[in-house]
Amino acid sequence: MAADLGPRAMFVAGGTDLFPKLKRRQFEIDTLIGLDFLSREIHNGSAQWVVGAGVTLAAASNDPHLKESVAGYAEAAGLVSSPPLRNAGTVGGNLCVDTRCNYYDMTYEWRKAAGFCMKKDGDICLVAPSSPRCWAVSSSDTAPMAIALDGVVGLTGPEGERELPVSVLYRDDGIDYMAKQPSEVVTSVTLAADPRTRTAYVKLRRRGSIDFPIAGAAVAIQLDGDEVVRCRIVLSAVASHPLEATAAEEFLKGKRLTDETIRETADIAAKPARPLDNADLAHFWRKRMVRVVVEDALVRASTRTASSKVKLLG
Ligand SMILES: Cc1cc2nc3c(=O)[nH]c(=O)nc-3n(C[C@H](O)[C@H](O)[C@H](O)COP(=O)(O)OP(=O)(O)OC[C@H]3O[C@@H](n4cnc5c(N)ncnc54)[C@H](O)[C@@H]3O)c2cc1C
Ligand code: SF4
Repeated sequence: MAADLGPRAMFVAGGTDLFPKLKRRQFEIDTLIGLDFLSREIHNGSAQWVVGAGVTLAAASNDPHLKESVAGYAEAAGLVSSPPLRNAGTVGGNLCVDTRCNYYDMTYEWRKAAGFCMKKDGDICLVAPSSPRCWAVSSSDTAPMAIALDGVVGLTGPEGERELPVSVLYRDDGIDYMAKQPSEVVTSVTLAADPRTRTAYVKLRRRGSIDFPIAGAAVAIQLDGDEVVRCRIVLSAVASHPLEATAAEEFLKGKRLTDETIRETADIAAKPARPLDNADLAHFWRKRMVRVVVEDALVRASTRTASSKVKLLG
């Protein structure tokens, strides 16, 4: 159906992001393709968790096995929006959620009065008028954590089934932000569950009860004693895609985890983050807060005990 109807149709899972956008006429389509058939199961194979794309965020955040084995992922799912939206919103929908911008996430009337932008109905960027591209912000909470956990999505489309690392599921483009084909459905996300890995997700937002992230850090570290043998740090809400802080990861590898190395790592991680004036609160303050969320996430992950067991659920 999706391939036949092209841009006239969209998939809908929980509808928590899509329905408000349809009301604001950010998408103009004539068909919704329901994804109710997607798996709502969480199960594990050898050293990995397979989370069905139809699993709700509430279920993922409360699952005792995910909480123990990949705590940062359960944490990220539990910090998305608010409890009613987590009861309906899905893991697959969260990975595919639209990029955000203060000039775009507005009613049709507001956008018309301000002047449309290139993401919908217009031809310039209102945040960076001389820019040829859209800088809308990747605002998924679970995508950075899935990348930090070497996540892989299952995709099904007209050409069949395939797998894609979550790290290459996104493009650095506020409009065309997903690298999958529009007619491909995300059916699952598989997360590495190495018992030595400690994880944490820290999110900054105005209201803890509901808001999207304005900065966030997903961290997965493996320690040998107090030496870091592996480290992934992925930032949310500071670019049009989840931003991996590769220089900081390299810096921390092989070092002892001390207050000083954590602070230095956080400083390096914050460097590539370039928030623009298109999300909540002042962008120069958001930039300064990136190092704070990274530091916080590293401390949380390091003080968390490594997951002791990965149970076989079948
Ligand atoms: C007030 C409010 C606050 C919010 N706060 C947050 C927040 O803090 N963090 C956050 O990450 N999100 C937030 N959201 C957005 C949204 O609730 C979540 O991202 C949610 O996980 C989306 O999942 P869904 O199943 O409802 O997706 P839907 O709304 O059904 O779909 C979202 C998009 O993904 C596509 N899609 C859905 N499932 C699939 C699939 N399996 N395969 C391919 N495409 C798919 C849809 O076509 C659509 O483009 C918020 C939304 C609101 C209204
Ligand atoms: S970044 Fe620019 S083009 Fe993109 S949604 Fe915002 S104003 Fe529009």
